[in-house]
Amino acid sequence: MADYQLIIIGGGLSGIAAGIRSARFGLKTLLLEQHTIPGGLNSYYYRQGQMLETGLHAMTNYAQPGDKRAPLNRLFRQLKLSRKQFTTHEQYCSEIRFPDASLRFSNQPLLLEEEIRTSFPAAVDRFSRLKELVAAYDPFTPAPWRSARNFLAETLGEPLLEEMLLLPLMVYGNAEEHDMDLGQFVIMFRSIFMEGFFRPAGTIREFLSLLTNQYREFGGELRYRALVSEIVRSGDRIQGVRLAGGELISADAVLSTVGMPGTIALTGWDLPAKAYGGQMSFMETVSLVPWEVAAAIEPRRTILFYNTRPTLCYQRTDSFLDLSWGVICFPSNFVGVEAEPYAQIRNTNAANYALWKAAAPEEYRELKAAWTRAAVDNAGTVIGAYRQEVVYQDSFTPLTIERYTRKAEGAIYGSPLKIKDGTTPWPNLFIAGTDQGYLGIVGAMLSGVTVVNQHLLQ
Ligand SMILES: Cc1cc2nc3c(=O)[nH]c(=O)nc-3n(C[C@H](O)[C@H](O)[C@H](O)COP(=O)(O)OP(=O)(O)OC[C@H]3O[C@@H](n4cnc5c(N)ncnc54)[C@H](O)[C@@H]3O)c2cc1C
Repeated sequence: MADYQLIIIGGGLSGIAAGIRSARFGLKTLLLEQHTIPGGLNSYYYRQGQMLETGLHAMTNYAQPGDKRAPLNRLFRQLKLSRKQFTTHEQYCSEIRFPDASLRFSNQPLLLEEEIRTSFPAAVDRFSRLKELVAAYDPFTPAPWRSARNFLAETLGEPLLEEMLLLPLMVYGNAEEHDMDLGQFVIMFRSIFMEGFFRPAGTIREFLSLLTNQYREFGGELRYRALVSEIVRSGDRIQGVRLAGGELISADAVLSTVGMPGTIALTGWDLPAKAYGGQMSFMETVSLVPWEVAAAIEPRRTILFYNTRPTLCYQRTDSFLDLSWGVICFPSNFVGVEAEPYAQIRNTNAANYALWKAAAPEEYRELKAAWTRAAVDNAGTVIGAYRQEVVYQDSFTPLTIERYTRKAEGAIYGSPLKIKDGTTPWPNLFIAGTDQGYLGIVGAMLSGVTVVNQHLLQ
């Protein structure tokens, strides 16, 4: 008999959600995480006594607790967590800012429609048609890749509006350069423009505790500092995993949430790992400023998506950072969040992994300092200068992300090639998380739950 019925590799959000679902249904489950804390890409750390979140701008897919069919509430039901007791802070309002137009949107879809009526009056009816098509599309049945850009051009025929709508959807959930799959576009459109942004009460640490406590409550076991060095094959099946210290743990089934390049390396899977490498990497800078400074900079603006060109160049940059477009997030500008005495300003820009990787250690430190300054000054040109007000600052390059999460090339959204059905050539090895297809916090959790439901609870 195997040691476990299910071993999950990776204690990020997909792995924990998968673990809750499997333990809830009585599978003897072991979750293995290389790091000392959970969360993966969305975790936390301490600097100078201050806790900082690695990732959280906002969660997508906001829904009122009573809305039974909403993805967020379905997810909570699947995890047997009370949505009513889960306190959320909704966004005030976010904005897409291009040189010649801007569009605000909130968790009330009507705001975006009104903004389009004002800035693109000729496109209002076509935008309504777009919403109908998005509502009718089933993005969860695997289908051949279809260009979201072509779909937008056919439906809207308003190039600037098309570029503007694509910016938040791509930067919060597209692993491919230039264009995105229509199914992924539909998922992101619904989760951002129809449902919207919120933050859980407290920080990501409390949210992760809620999840890991639930997992343990159902009898799931969790081991930190447990780096898996091999997924062990025996004939045409997976026998279990080997840890870096040599320990072999057997299992009836293994679920990998470490991405395709990681899974290829752990199994010796006969696939070109390069083809599954990430295309889009980012650098994120977190600045702490006095609360009143942040409140005055962009009052009641939650997330700002900016582009300084008329078209969106969503692609790997030739430079260390692409400052021509990006995201600026105010994590304290959510309804009911109190951030005194300090508030964060987080700004994100596309980064070139290969250039960062090529730098020698000393050069890397200098480059990081210089590009952090450049990124903050650049954000200052969009929202007003704030560098002089910064009391603490930190930034993550693609190398930081790769170092702490093993995400290949620091590519947050993983491979452009997704394994949508979660299966592998081995009948008892499955893929969940970023490289299964769903992206972001809610997406990663839904992926973990879905793969367990489809393949392990039969
Ligand atoms: C800077 C930043 C900002 C973000 N902001 C947001 C946001 O505001 N909203 C949002 O919805 N999403 C955001 N995201 C994206 C979101 O965090 C991810 O999409 C999601 O968390 C992915 O979860 P995952 O479980 O698929 O992968 P991961 O989080 O990568 O989890 C994989 C886990 O596997 C572990 N691991 C890897 N290899 C091994 C091994 N060999 N053995 C054992 N363990 C291993 C890693 O340590 C990691 O914990 C952000 C990400 C970043 C980096």
